[in-house]
Amino acid sequence: MKLIYTHENRFLVANAHNILEQAGIRVVWKNEFASGAIGEISPFDSWPELWVIDDADYDRAIEIITHALSAANAPDWTCTHCNEPNDAAFETCWNCQTEKPEHT
Ligand SMILES: [Zn+2]
Repeated sequence: MKLIYTHENRFLVANAHNILEQAGIRVVWKNEFASGAIGEISPFDSWPELWVIDDADYDRAIEIITHALSAANAPDWTCTHCNEPNDAAFETCWNCQTEKPEHT
């Protein structure tokens, strides 16, 4: 197993998790419930971590995450199905799970 992504914001880690699972890469959380644990743990140690189960998926996973994070600087998008605004970092609509439309 290899560490693929970690961030203090668990929503970003959750988003990375979803993106990788959609790409067919098996990942596991570590420290998912660590926040609020005993104070001996440094804040960094208690960040949620995303690990790739199969090392062979690591390079592809890094590529996918890097791509997803660079997309986070892109403008928000509006769902074509339910018209809800979505953050650019999300690949599917938070409301109805419709996939983000390709750039036109
Ligand atoms: Zn939608």
